[in-house]
Amino acid sequence: MSSTVEQVSSVFDTILVLDFGSQYSHLITRRLREFNVYAEMLPCTQKIAELGWKPAGVILSGGPYSVYAEDAPHVDLDVFELDVPILGICYGMQELAWLNGKQVARGEKREYGPATLNVEVASSPLFKGMDHSRVWMSHGDKLHGLPTGFEVIATSDNSPYCGVAHKEKPIYGIQFHPEVTHSTQGKTLLKNFAVDICKANQNWTMENFIDTEIKRIRDLVGPTAEVIGAVSGGVDSTVAAKLMTEAIGERFHAILVDNGVLRLNEAANVKKTLGEGLGINLTVIDAADEFLDKLKGVTDPEKKRKIIGNTFIHVFEREAARIQPKGGDEIEFLLQGTLYPDVIESISFKGPSQTIKTHHNVGGLLEDMKLKLIEPLRELFKDEVRHLGELLGISHELVWRHPFPGPGIAIRVLGEVTREQVAIARKADHIYIEEIRKAGLYNKISQAFACLLPVKSVGVMGDQRTYEQVIALRAIETTDFMTADWFPFEHEFLKKVASRIVNEVDGVARVTYDITSKPPATVEWE
Ligand code: GLN
Repeated sequence: MSSTVEQVSSVFDTILVLDFGSQYSHLITRRLREFNVYAEMLPCTQKIAELGWKPAGVILSGGPYSVYAEDAPHVDLDVFELDVPILGICYGMQELAWLNGKQVARGEKREYGPATLNVEVASSPLFKGMDHSRVWMSHGDKLHGLPTGFEVIATSDNSPYCGVAHKEKPIYGIQFHPEVTHSTQGKTLLKNFAVDICKANQNWTMENFIDTEIKRIRDLVGPTAEVIGAVSGGVDSTVAAKLMTEAIGERFHAILVDNGVLRLNEAANVKKTLGEGLGINLTVIDAADEFLDKLKGVTDPEKKRKIIGNTFIHVFEREAARIQPKGGDEIEFLLQGTLYPDVIESISFKGPSQTIKTHHNVGGLLEDMKLKLIEPLRELFKDEVRHLGELLGISHELVWRHPFPGPGIAIRVLGEVTREQVAIARKADHIYIEEIRKAGLYNKISQAFACLLPVKSVGVMGDQRTYEQVIALRAIETTDFMTADWFPFEHEFLKKVASRIVNEVDGVARVTYDITSKPPATVEWE
């Protein structure tokens, strides 16, 4: 069936990025999409014959290896038979040079940081509108001569071969990284390559994506099959569910498992926004007791996560079996809100010792239930998903929601998770987020939450000695969640939140603010 389904890459003109393992490779894809050219990244080991579609152009990325090393990765030579423009970036350029005369060796010193680009051949279409711009270097190897058939089109103070071009074919190499924002006109260069040289259509827009994706889903699922998927109230699962509903209506069944550790009023809110508001065919399963009973007496964070994960699979399978599709057809697919960064993570080239990460979280469900996976967001970056969500009519508030962990409040109640503890943590969190929204800070913060600590502290309230628990507030700013800094709230703001929590939440006598960055701390406390 899948062979009759068109891939996104065969509908949109696509620039193929072959990844040699640079930490910046995915940014090449990002930048191209920013000016509406669709790009996809695949490992440098991709066999061109197995591609199944023809790219409009190919970019060879940077990478940590040295082309002359014995175990260095090399591109499939068939890439040159495609007869499309090619751009080599850093390692990619060195690879082009290695294949055309082997004039690459270790430089006297590493070059890392800014350099000024001197365009030597002003007529080169690659550098249209660029000269003396700042470019970013990160290399230790160097070209020691011109690759056979090439000419120099740009230099820098340290690199006589800063840019090279084939004399007859549209094949280019550059020593610097145009994909990083430190290269001030890097995007212009990538656009020159993709739009002017490769002639790629700038039609990668979310409006076009919606149309092609709905058509693709309909072709894939066919006229009668049914699809199920879990929703959490978060951005990705909501957008995926809404897209699915647009494509196949009631034949998509969304399930929200209320695990007893969701945020305050969350299950009811999801029912209202997704079910009533967005018209998604939604079933809410109240499994709170089942989860909380299993969590009884458990204090180890890893154990908590495992119990919640396993119980979720169990409940989901049981409830899915109860759903009787109207047409009498079997449920054939499982919807998963996988995003492109997860895909990149599992396909990016990590060298000879790489281990490929699989989506182990759904693996079990697929096997047990004999389902096929459907992932309509797997080509999209997070901000593209948000944009898609807004176009599908999902509220701004939901689309810009902070991430929330699968094990939910269970890992924000430190120590044993009881109904009482969950209730305290929920209320405190609700007040905190409400105040953040009121202060207009929600979208400035990447993630914020309250944690309930399993310690008691002495206080005084209304002349009475109290001996109650402690709430820790956390708020972080980050772009990628790999590193994060704590958010510098005004003291007045913290004062207000602390006073509301102590006054309104029974069982809390003290509030603290977490001022640790990641690393060394993680975002969540458990
Ligand atoms: N490893 C190569 C070098 O050091 C390429 C570096 C890169 O692609 N950033 O020159």
